[in-house]
Amino acid sequence: MGQISSPIMSVRQLNKQFGKGCEQCSNSDNRKLERNYCRACGTVYSCQNLSFDLYPGEVLGIVGESGSGKSTLMRSLYFDQEVTTGEAYLQPYKEGAVNLFQESSQQQKYIRNHLMGKVYQNPVLGLRMGFSSIGNIAEKMIAAGNRNVAAMEARGSELLDQVHIPVYRMKEAPKKFSGGMQQRVQIAKALSNNPPILLLDEVTTGLDLSVQANVLDLIKHLQRELKISMLLVSHDLGVIRMLADRTMVMLDGRVVEQGLTDQILEDPQHAYTQQLVHSLL
Ligand SMILES: [Zn+2]
Repeated sequence: MGQISSPIMSVRQLNKQFGKGCEQCSNSDNRKLERNYCRACGTVYSCQNLSFDLYPGEVLGIVGESGSGKSTLMRSLYFDQEVTTGEAYLQPYKEGAVNLFQESSQQQKYIRNHLMGKVYQNPVLGLRMGFSSIGNIAEKMIAAGNRNVAAMEARGSELLDQVHIPVYRMKEAPKKFSGGMQQRVQIAKALSNNPPILLLDEVTTGLDLSVQANVLDLIKHLQRELKISMLLVSHDLGVIRMLADRTMVMLDGRVVEQGLTDQILEDPQHAYTQQLVHSLL
């Protein structure tokens, strides 16, 4: 990470709302909301004017409680759902000149398969639980145009080895694995096409603490080795502290604070961030 490099991903004024809005809430400068919710019409403003940059090789943490909009942001960036308005640019895609949200679904599929990987909190969303583990990896490689079975098998076992799944278990289905192992298969699958960007959404939530530490350690190790850029979403500032170079704090669909993670931990400015930091101590 350095000031000289230009962002690998830029997001500008991303908005996602559920509901049509009304005169009480349509003006983004002057909304009468209860948290992110309009009482008058029931519209929920999940992401409000989110803008940020992700730099090559950087881990950007996004912390917030459930309902803060952080997972909605991740779904939007991976085209799991449409944004209401906004722009996103990827440097490796058409030299960062095209708004990804305006691309066709076919192009968005290309971006998902070649330039991004995503690891979900719930492995059912990221894996076919009944397929073999190596089959899961091959599926993502096939989606990116690979056809050479021997090469895919070699790559698949290399990846499983990298995430510490014993190669003799590669034909087993994730449903037979523990929660920590399932997350590691998801990570292997997400990395299969060497994407420059990885999206991690609450990947250790719900795991036992010792398992959680192992998975976080693996992610840290892979990040250093592969120099991959990561967006890391968590409700747990402890997870963010372990991995993120910079951190954005989200509350009610907005970014309330951002900066170097160390700085935020040492000198939190917003009352909500202060509360998060104090709960860590
Ligand atoms: Zn309204």
